[in-house]
Amino acid sequence: MRPRHVKTGTLWFSLYLFLSLLPVFIVLLGPKPPGREFLVEFSVALGFMALAMMCLQFALTARFQWLKEPFGSDLVYSFHRSISLVSVGFVLLHPLLLSLTPVRPEVLIRLDVVNQPFYPRWGFGAALCLAALVITSLGRKRFHLAYEPWRRAHALFAIGAVLCGVLHVAVENHYFGMPLKGGLWISYTLLWVGLTLWVRLVKPWLEIRRPFVVESVRPERGTAWTLTLTPDGHRGFPFAPGQFGWLTLFASPFSDREHPFSFSGSAEAAPRLEFTIKELGDFTRGLHRVAPGTRAYVDGPFGAITADRHAHATGFVFVAGGIGITPMMSHLRSFADRGERRPLLLIYANTAWEDVTFREELAALEAALNLRVVHALGRPPREWSGETGFVTEDLLRRHVPPADAGHEYFVCGPPVMIRVVERALTRLGVRPGDIHAERFDLV
Ligand SMILES: Cc1cc2nc3c(=O)[nH]c(=O)nc-3n(C[C@H](O)[C@H](O)[C@H](O)COP(=O)(O)OP(=O)(O)OC[C@H]3O[C@@H](n4cnc5c(N)ncnc54)[C@H](O)[C@@H]3O)c2cc1C
Repeated sequence: MRPRHVKTGTLWFSLYLFLSLLPVFIVLLGPKPPGREFLVEFSVALGFMALAMMCLQFALTARFQWLKEPFGSDLVYSFHRSISLVSVGFVLLHPLLLSLTPVRPEVLIRLDVVNQPFYPRWGFGAALCLAALVITSLGRKRFHLAYEPWRRAHALFAIGAVLCGVLHVAVENHYFGMPLKGGLWISYTLLWVGLTLWVRLVKPWLEIRRPFVVESVRPERGTAWTLTLTPDGHRGFPFAPGQFGWLTLFASPFSDREHPFSFSGSAEAAPRLEFTIKELGDFTRGLHRVAPGTRAYVDGPFGAITADRHAHATGFVFVAGGIGITPMMSHLRSFADRGERRPLLLIYANTAWEDVTFREELAALEAALNLRVVHALGRPPREWSGETGFVTEDLLRRHVPPADAGHEYFVCGPPVMIRVVERALTRLGVRPGDIHAERFDLV
């Protein structure tokens, strides 16, 4: 990480901690409603902290480039997932602790939503929405929930959870009635409403004003398509190799039907963008229908998995599985355009030789760069003398330079491969901080 990223990363993380903990300090240190004991206030503080964290989740997923830049999207989404579980824990503890106090033993007993007073019903609603959020997210693949309906439901449950939480606080007028606490909750509510408007209205509107147009669509090996896009009536944006953008095709940015794809072209060719996309589901299987001249929208660039952040590196090792080659290809094409001379190693795993995307261009790049490409095939042809099977520790040991060579390592492919490669590289002595991975799978 560059010192600038360490500084801004520390700043954002401190701000996050401050905003999550602020309600606790204010509840515990501020004036207490008369006759309330510590455990009641502590339980209320946990509830407030959970609500503050839920509001901040909207900031984590609002795709602010400046917020994600120091950490990268992978880390931010992984933090988003973990912190949801923490806030669920706080939400559950909140009524549990209250039920242990003499003030509100009825909290647990009165889960009878029909007869209980209006105020706790909102709390119950928030807990239900949160439970639905967590269950559908953790179990999305197990329950075979399609991504796009899941994503819409996720947004609705998230809005529902925060809305019910805010109403739960609002109708309990101890808090909105006191200037400090009322001010705090009005600010958090405004922050949350502002973030929702930003994501749902402002961002799509900005995208519509800066459209792209499809210049060409060409087939690639491995049932993939490369789309070339150019900005239409604006200057586009620069990007670093390894970054990605959210692409909307066949729809308006307001429809929330965008998909993330790594840029596969050279960063030196920006603002011209290339995406290489493998056919997988309903959206990606429709790419053959895209005609030159089609309007497209791209939100980006995002992601921190780029060699451009490691100017000090003596060389780079790339490990790609299948379509995970795209960010590596962007690196290699950018390096070729820049006349890079540092040693480069690409370990590229595929099932069949015929399906190796960019096979011919990689051979040409080996001649143009200080690059060695090692192919590993799951189903090799009979005459194959190269590596076979999955990328394992033994395979890596045979090819990667010594751990103290000062190289940086980039890994992209199926989540299982990433886990195996990260573990194997660490066992080979590579520092975890020198391994950078991009999962093509957000949930
Ligand atoms: C950072 C990143 C970079 C990526 N880069 C590439 C790339 O360069 N080339 C490539 O072929 N693929 C890439 N992918 C994967 C690509 O986004 C999915 O394959 C694609 O969205 C599948 O859409 P589908 O509707 O055709 O498939 P589906 O069958 O609907 O979905 C298959 C899986 O793709 C994911 N997915 C589907 N829709 C979305 C969405 N709207 N947003 C996020 N994830 C979704 C889900 O995990 C889903 O289970 C990348 C993913 C990420 C997260």
